Amino acid sequence: MNTLGSLVLEFEQHFGDERSPDTLFSWANALISDDISRFPDDQVDALNHWGMAAYYVPAELGGKLSNFSELAMLIRLIARRDLTVAIGHGKTFLGAVSVWVGGDAAQRHLVAEDILSCDMVSLALTERLHGSDVSSTEVTAVKTPKGFRLNGEKYLINNATRGQALSVFARTDHQGQSRDFSLFLVRKKDHPPQSFSQVPKAVTHGIKGADISGIQFQNLEVNHDALIGKEGHGLDITLKGFQLSRTLCAALSCGAADTGLRLAVEFAQQRRSGNQALIDIANIRQVLATSATQMYIADIATQVISRAIQCFPQQMSLLSAVAKASVPVLCETMMESLSDVLGVRSYVQLGEQTDIFGKMLRDIRLISLFDGNTAVNLQAIALQLPTLARHREKSVNAISPQMLDALFCIDTELPTFDRDSLSLFTMRGDWLAAGLKRAESMTGECPVLTEKLVQIQARLTELDGLVQALPVELGHPSAQRFSLAKRYCNLQLAAMTLLTFLYNRNRLSRSFRSFSWVEECIDLLLGNQDALKDMHCLKLVRQQLDDNNLFSPLNLSIRGEVDAKLAQTREDSKATRAEKPTKEISYV
Ligand SMILES: Cc1cc2nc3c(=O)[nH]c(=O)nc-3n(C[C@H](O)[C@H](O)[C@H](O)COP(=O)(O)OP(=O)(O)OC[C@H]3O[C@@H](n4cnc5c(N)ncnc54)[C@H](O)[C@@H]3O)c2cc1C
Repeated sequence: MNTLGSLVLEFEQHFGDERSPDTLFSWANALISDDISRFPDDQVDALNHWGMAAYYVPAELGGKLSNFSELAMLIRLIARRDLTVAIGHGKTFLGAVSVWVGGDAAQRHLVAEDILSCDMVSLALTERLHGSDVSSTEVTAVKTPKGFRLNGEKYLINNATRGQALSVFARTDHQGQSRDFSLFLVRKKDHPPQSFSQVPKAVTHGIKGADISGIQFQNLEVNHDALIGKEGHGLDITLKGFQLSRTLCAALSCGAADTGLRLAVEFAQQRRSGNQALIDIANIRQVLATSATQMYIADIATQVISRAIQCFPQQMSLLSAVAKASVPVLCETMMESLSDVLGVRSYVQLGEQTDIFGKMLRDIRLISLFDGNTAVNLQAIALQLPTLARHREKSVNAISPQMLDALFCIDTELPTFDRDSLSLFTMRGDWLAAGLKRAESMTGECPVLTEKLVQIQARLTELDGLVQALPVELGHPSAQRFSLAKRYCNLQLAAMTLLTFLYNRNRLSRSFRSFSWVEECIDLLLGNQDALKDMHCLKLVRQQLDDNNLFSPLNLSIRGEVDAKLAQTREDSKATRAEKPTKEISYV
């Protein structure tokens, strides 16, 4: 067991069996709250009591956030029980991230203290008339002798009503430029009640109990010290913050998909049609095999990209978009297909374990819509493809093996997160060519994986050629560029799967040491024919179901004994990191 494994067990032991109606944080209670659109206060309180809020706060500010893959894993564990709770609680990280990325020391300490006292923080970016188009923002912040005066409405804001503080994105200029916007930290308790009012919660088709509401500012006065970063830097800071939060959104999808797949495989094993178990019927088996493969791809992408926040912060404008454009769509597609396996149980509550599936199916659809929808993320990738293609060769030597080791080797300690290395554009190319080059020396004894590696490299060369042959475009990228961005995402995910296996083969549980499942994942991503003919991933999923493991090649049990030594190692490592200044052990 590794330290991530001990964290999973610690969490799972504390919150107990999600299938038992006697457990507070159970599927049954998730449904009860959802049916009456009630906010899951008790579960949120329980998470606070366990100390979840501390994982949103960087270790150097007194919190427990020193490893983003741990945070991603915890979000996944919450999401596999109830996405309403995961989104309702986890949104505090999204609210605070602008301060972590762009705030000064005083703001960082203030927000850290607030969160450690379990205050909720929201991000107030969206407006009723403008979804992803933040350049049309109408909320204004006009300069006053003491600071700024805010007016206007933010709507569809998670925890706008229940939350105690908000990072507010507002217009401070009208030059028609990206520097027209600034971010402000608004703590409700610092302002008179007449300076803001709440807009009632929207009725949502999923996460029905969540507080998706709004706030109107009526001459709300903030002092200069409420400005996050410099005036005019609101868009930069927001986009950098998204590089962290969008990555974590992938963990939300993985959690819901884990539950969906678990229920569908169990059902298909038990349910009979005539004298056959459903799982032995060819088309059902095919759906389950595809879903199992998608699950492992999604799991690996989420783990790798959350580690990349600390290993390759300069590439996160790209990698976070890959995470957000790929993983939620993979998991949603998977849940849609699994609903065919469950039949009416995906639609009706029959007093069975499968009742939660319908809620997960509704809830999961949201993840590709918020925090930058799929189109926005594909656009972010499409715009960077020409630069990536141009730097492909040079990038091989620009990425050190040490950084690749940290990215892929699950037992390697991650460098400390360096917010100053986040960038709006991946200027010097991505890790792909260097990673694939490194894989050449690792696939040696396995001709099948060598063949997969060569295929990925060939597809990448082909993609770069297509990108470079396109005419220069102004404005929104063409449909063709969007489709190339999707292909690029698949190549990223294929390479991540291959390298995760090559780096960790001997650390994986026995059944994952054979390369067959990796071959299946890569074939599915590359659209190869007969990708799943042997259905290895499905076999592994069935075994992990029996073993009470999360669906992941990492050996993560959800039932068992916590290894006290490993739990202590994790705590010691956090304490050490909290004492070290960021730059000291950064690899960048
Ligand atoms: C449950 C929930 C919680 C939310 N929480 C928050 C929150 O906490 N804080 C916050 O600020 N906001 C929040 N939002 C708002 C949410 O992030 C926005 O609504 C979202 O970014 C997209 O807006 P839209 O779909 O309304 O509109 P649009 O962005 O206008 O999208 C409409 C359609 O156009 C397509 N499209 C948009 N742009 C492009 C493009 N460039 N190229 C191609 N196609 C494009 C999209 O794919 C979509 O299909 C939340 C929304 C919901 C539903």
